[in-house]
Amino acid sequence: MLIRYFGKNVCWKIRRRFYHKRNFSATAGSDKTDLERIRNIGIMAHIDAGKTTTTERMLFYSGSIPNMGEVHDGNTVTDFMEQERQRGITIASAAVTFAWKGHRLNLIDTPGHIDFTMGVEQTLGALDGAVVILDSSAGVEAQTTTVWRQADRYSLPRIVYCNKMDRADADFDMCLTSIETKFDVTPLPVQIPLKNNSELSIVDLLTLETVTFDRSNQGRKVQRQKLEDPEALSLARERRRSLTDKLSELDDNLADKIIEQESLDDIPGELLLESLRRTTLAQRGVPVLLGSSYKNVGVQLLMDAAVFYLPSPNHHQKAKLYSCFRESFAARAFKVIHDKQRGPITFFRVFTGKLSKGQRVYNVQREKTEQGGKLYAAYADDYEEIAEVSEGNIAALGGLKSTITGDLLTGSVTAVARAKEILQRRDVEEADRRGLFDPARVPDPVFFCSIEPPSMAYQSALDTALQELEREDPSLRVSVDSETGQTVLSGMGELHIEIIKERIRTEYKIHADLGPLQIAYKETIGRRIKDSFELHHVVGSTKHDVTVTMSLIDCYEGEELLLMDNTRESASNLAAVHPRFMGAVKSGVSSALNCGPRLGCPVIKVGVKLHWLEVGKGTSETMVASAVSQCIRKLLEDAGVVLLEPIMRLEIVTPEAYAPGVLGDLGRRRTEIQEITVRRDDKIIRSLAPLSELLGYATKLRILTSGTGNFSLEFDSYKRMGPLEEQQAIKNVTGF
Ligand code: GDP
Repeated sequence: MLIRYFGKNVCWKIRRRFYHKRNFSATAGSDKTDLERIRNIGIMAHIDAGKTTTTERMLFYSGSIPNMGEVHDGNTVTDFMEQERQRGITIASAAVTFAWKGHRLNLIDTPGHIDFTMGVEQTLGALDGAVVILDSSAGVEAQTTTVWRQADRYSLPRIVYCNKMDRADADFDMCLTSIETKFDVTPLPVQIPLKNNSELSIVDLLTLETVTFDRSNQGRKVQRQKLEDPEALSLARERRRSLTDKLSELDDNLADKIIEQESLDDIPGELLLESLRRTTLAQRGVPVLLGSSYKNVGVQLLMDAAVFYLPSPNHHQKAKLYSCFRESFAARAFKVIHDKQRGPITFFRVFTGKLSKGQRVYNVQREKTEQGGKLYAAYADDYEEIAEVSEGNIAALGGLKSTITGDLLTGSVTAVARAKEILQRRDVEEADRRGLFDPARVPDPVFFCSIEPPSMAYQSALDTALQELEREDPSLRVSVDSETGQTVLSGMGELHIEIIKERIRTEYKIHADLGPLQIAYKETIGRRIKDSFELHHVVGSTKHDVTVTMSLIDCYEGEELLLMDNTRESASNLAAVHPRFMGAVKSGVSSALNCGPRLGCPVIKVGVKLHWLEVGKGTSETMVASAVSQCIRKLLEDAGVVLLEPIMRLEIVTPEAYAPGVLGDLGRRRTEIQEITVRRDDKIIRSLAPLSELLGYATKLRILTSGTGNFSLEFDSYKRMGPLEEQQAIKNVTGF
């Protein structure tokens, strides 16, 4: 009936709104009981393991979407950015909210490509637990190891789902071994696969039942039957005993029960379930499940497991830290996007208190109060307006113009001052305090390129696009080259810049020209140096006179860029300088160090010391800044400036047979091998390699290992180059 009046999609929206209201009222999560019913879960995996397909199934079975999309058709809900539809990869963390068995699941899709690990980090802080998806034919892959390590840092309890078990080459036992060796954690398989004429079903080891998923209605109907086949039953019993045994080593509570009962058999399923939950929360082991999302097998059991085993917001590692805000509102923004109709939308996780629509929020990092607009529950590219969001939940807020990913949103300046006071009284580690109030640490970009609009008419549209993209993704930086006036994009990897370019083209409809991709070199000085500089300038009738003495300190690692000479003579001279001229000195220092003499790259690992400053009457601040800049440039010319190049931590996993070829090739790339280890039939090669030697390495490794090897790359440090490499780098950049 409804369908006749409104059409299918509108009907679904009405149904969902009703369902939403019934399942989580506007004040969901406002008391501790409600909090226990929330799960903020990250979904993470190596690219292509099946995150998008699995998320889509979850939404479908929970009743949030009427139809399932398929990745290869480009119509899934979470891969909504046009970019992703074309590439079939998940770039941004889309948040989706749905209900499952009386619980509210907030699912955050984390990016799968190495270039987007920054996005993963931002998201992890908002989560309470994670589902890690593996491709059962591949086991644990390089990117998953990187994400797993990041999740370790955030102490996130996890469960693992071995997807693609329908494939002929899927190997559940191999996955368990690779979880144990690569993640260094005890896998606790709670299921085993059962294949009947290539039809996949699942044996639940806790209940010793076979679980089948009716193919005729897209796996919606889940049937459980006592396992009867004697052979399968005997195997399942053996696996159950082994699970109980492993669990008893990790959980004293269960061990006591076993001692009481004097047997590993016949421990009731509920006891195992409770034990698994305790073990998962304590991160002593990970429950492992299996399925085939594509063939609609196992996804409902995975959702059950997320509810059973993963923690509620009450268990968040930082809950105690955020409690300094008491009842007042405190939330962390973990994602910003720009919606064509709704403008900027900020996704955030509420740690304390609540937020109502239209309320003002104080952003701690930007030191700014902003007017919040509409408040939404998020369904990937669809939003449902809500009146209020409270502790433990994830929601999206419209209207914030300055907030960027990673910022702390609070109720007011006073609330922040009060929270700081409370923290002061508590014995809190400095790192935690800084983590709470300081801006998120953004890694240095390693690549950059110039970007230009197709014509001047597009300049302002391009500026807006870049501004928005920069807010969405803090690892992207946009700057203007002071010499050429060109706009410069800096990012974390080849694919990162490529994606940005395509987003500008497809979402903003600007066919921007990108210059060649260049490595972000830095410069530093070879030795300590001191000198003076005088500026005498007449502009109109005004005379400007500045005398300045400064020195550059090499190998400097301190945070303060400008240091003062504290000797008696200098100190009395500097004390007499008007504060506004000190501001000018600072701006002169940063502008000079921003553009080194060698290749115009930023100069790092340099400290600047001010020894003497005399400013003549009537001299302007601009002239003081200019004199300081010129003084530093002169010092840099004489200080033996050298180039520094980005060095990456490179981890390669390759079958043993290809290892000699890979190592031989690394030898030609100025690589410093740090460690070679063996895991089953694979060699793991850990090394430090200059980024300039790794352009297009993905293709090279694929050729060297016939497509079987993979690698992960992380920034390590900046290092001095040899004279020959330096010459080559200069030639690559300048062309001569
Ligand atoms: P993501 O990159 O992790 O989001 O992975 P996708 O969900 O995009 O899936 C990557 C590819 O694997 C797509 O072609 C899917 O159709 C396919 N796929 C996903 N799940 C399964 C599965 O259970 N079995 C098989 N055989 N293929 C799957």
